[in-house]
Amino acid sequence: MTVWFIVVLLLLFVYFSYRYVWWKRAVDYRYPRILMYHMIRDAIPGKKFNSLRVTPKDFETQIKYLHDNGWHSYTMEEAINQKKSLPLKSVMITFDDGYQDNLTNALPVLRKYGFKATIYLVNDRHDRDWSGYRKAKNEGAGLKDESKLSDDEVKELLDSGLIEIGAHTLTHANLKNLDEVESQKEICISKKQIEVQFQTACQSFAYPFGLYGSKEVKIVANCGYSNAVTTKVGIVDLNECDLFEIPRVTVSGKDNFFAFYLKLRTGKRGVKK
Ligand SMILES: [Zn+2]
Repeated sequence: MTVWFIVVLLLLFVYFSYRYVWWKRAVDYRYPRILMYHMIRDAIPGKKFNSLRVTPKDFETQIKYLHDNGWHSYTMEEAINQKKSLPLKSVMITFDDGYQDNLTNALPVLRKYGFKATIYLVNDRHDRDWSGYRKAKNEGAGLKDESKLSDDEVKELLDSGLIEIGAHTLTHANLKNLDEVESQKEICISKKQIEVQFQTACQSFAYPFGLYGSKEVKIVANCGYSNAVTTKVGIVDLNECDLFEIPRVTVSGKDNFFAFYLKLRTGKRGVKK
């Protein structure tokens, strides 16, 4: 009986250790953490993409933790401009796609704690189902039904003084499937449209689905962006890395607080993600 109890305990310990890699040392706190979010809303039971839905309650717990533990918040553009003098514990909150809940659920929390964020906006985001652009089987998985920010709401976000609007292509394109001319249009015109429509500089870019190659990296640089983020997972020194291939830390709606805490330390909660 006792032997079995010990064996079970050991197995649980091994599982817990594999899942959370709790012994790993924190990455140098001189390197900023760039957190990737999508929606701030409750999960939809039975639907795909719930990892992209972080509940408002969890989001507030995370931002409050950052605030209470001395983290300094910047937009991507600010961080790039000040990369030589960023303080220890710098964090950039980023949201991909342009969901309406970024205004209704995230902004009140950001305001409460004085935190900033960068939102990567798809220009043609209404009534568009990009779920299937990467894998056909994801088509109709529900991202189309999620409310996106209207242009007036984007202005409201900008007026808060806490939000930077970055670009995420015109149509949430899978850049891997496009030729150079089409990629150029998706990457460069999205920037220009944002600048004209919202009277704001658009310096930051995020590759849709995190899919890109050396061709896209060159186009992003030539279009006049100062930086681009990927979905590669990691925490890096902005003074050393390629500013057009910056990795981020994925915050998943499926993470508990311990997973968030570990990701902030090491970029990952476990061995792989
Ligand atoms: Zn996206």
